[in-house]
Amino acid sequence: MEIAKHFTLQVAIIGSGPSGFYAAEALLNAGISTEITILEKLPCPYGLIRYGVAPDHQKLKRVTQTLDVIAEHPAVTFLGNVEVGKDIQINELMELYHIVIFTTGMPKSSLLDIEGESLIGVHPSSTFIGWYNGHPDYQTQSFDFSNDQAVIIGHGNVAIDICRVLTKPIDELRKSDIPETALELLNKSNIKNVHLVGRRGPVQAKFTTKELHELGKLENCNVSINPKHLNLGEACQQELDEISNQLARKNHGVFQTYSNNFTNIQHADKKQIAIDFMLNPKAFKGDKKVQSVLFAQNRLKGPAFKQVSIPCNSQLEIACGLAFTSVGFSGSKFYGLHTDPNKGILSNVNSRLINEHGDIVYGMYAAGWVKRGPQGVIGTNRECAQDTVDQILEDLAIFVDHFASAKHDLMNMLKVRNIQFVTFSDWKVIDAIEIEKGQQLGKPREKFTSVSSMLACI
Ligand code: NAP
Repeated sequence: MEIAKHFTLQVAIIGSGPSGFYAAEALLNAGISTEITILEKLPCPYGLIRYGVAPDHQKLKRVTQTLDVIAEHPAVTFLGNVEVGKDIQINELMELYHIVIFTTGMPKSSLLDIEGESLIGVHPSSTFIGWYNGHPDYQTQSFDFSNDQAVIIGHGNVAIDICRVLTKPIDELRKSDIPETALELLNKSNIKNVHLVGRRGPVQAKFTTKELHELGKLENCNVSINPKHLNLGEACQQELDEISNQLARKNHGVFQTYSNNFTNIQHADKKQIAIDFMLNPKAFKGDKKVQSVLFAQNRLKGPAFKQVSIPCNSQLEIACGLAFTSVGFSGSKFYGLHTDPNKGILSNVNSRLINEHGDIVYGMYAAGWVKRGPQGVIGTNRECAQDTVDQILEDLAIFVDHFASAKHDLMNMLKVRNIQFVTFSDWKVIDAIEIEKGQQLGKPREKFTSVSSMLACI
């Protein structure tokens, strides 16, 4: 692609999770002159890595070291504490930059939309995850751990993360970066029995084997499944035998070991995690506060790999004092841009965003979960961001003349508006204080849990 030598592509990236950084990295590696501003609503970077990855999975969080290298590149400017749509509008960004890339992730949990979902004690996964990860938006949430039974709905890795936080010994959790305020409450938790409930069978569970296996390693905890669930129907067996379906086969091996624990359910001294299958949530029951979850028993219908759960006439009620829904996520809506109502993503054609009339908005792109939905591991977002940048480069060859007029003086604009933006070196000051406070407590860091406390550091 031939681009004039004097031309510097000005790019604004909205969101500083892994996808935002990986989009910046791909642009830096694209062989063009570029200047990139990464905008973040919170004063701190890293999005999902800081506030989504489980706090007891600190190894995974070390990817921030790679992201720091990208942030510290001379062509990259990080501006935290800037909310797009409030402090600066999207149309203003489009005047300041040639390209705007949305990497805003999927911050909101999908809801089940069933009776009783608003009862006290019923929480979407994002609320609990945000709370125990110290996200400023979730610190006023309260969780009642006084009952000994909890139910988690959903058979994905997020449900497993929640299950571990509920059942891991407190001394193990103290080694994580869960804030002290949350640890204090978790220390008083009476939770002894957790039901991890899926609407389909073991072959369809979305857990990754490593995470599923990790549950079985929890100290003083019995993980069990009823062996009847391992008697597979024809279509399930076909799915399991499919050569490419390694995940299901590996998971099946772990489920078999857990089925051997079914008789240990009576071990009064141990915590119990029961993995339940084929149950469709129908209602949360209780008077103001949740007391049980009512499920319809399911059967599977359809050919292999397309089996859906069909509720039968029989029902099952599981008593609980806390219930979590962990059934996926959806993204934020942005004025003027079309959101896919089913997937919760920003509607796009190969990363190019679409307006409410269905037309491509030239210069606007998406990467990461907001582009493709909530799936994959952190590295998946690197490929996804590279793909977005490849599309940008294709378009650039066509639209470069139009782009020549953009100018970027966002910082001045924010100063005039009295927005206290946070630069990457400001963040490093906050970071160092968190790490130091953490060291005093024998943990990786003690996070600031409010925006004001972060801003007070700088
Ligand atoms: P997920 O893997 O898509 O699992 C969602 C679960 O919710 C599925 O079991 C799904 O069942 C169920 N579900 C959806 N709608 C439902 C409904 N109406 N009623 C009952 N159940 C329903 O999502 P996730 O757990 O939120 O994870 C998102 C992504 O992050 C995944 O790619 C995951 O692997 C990744 N992640 C990775 C890690 C890690 O690597 N350690 C940790 C956390 C998350 P069906 O299958 O029947 O639809």
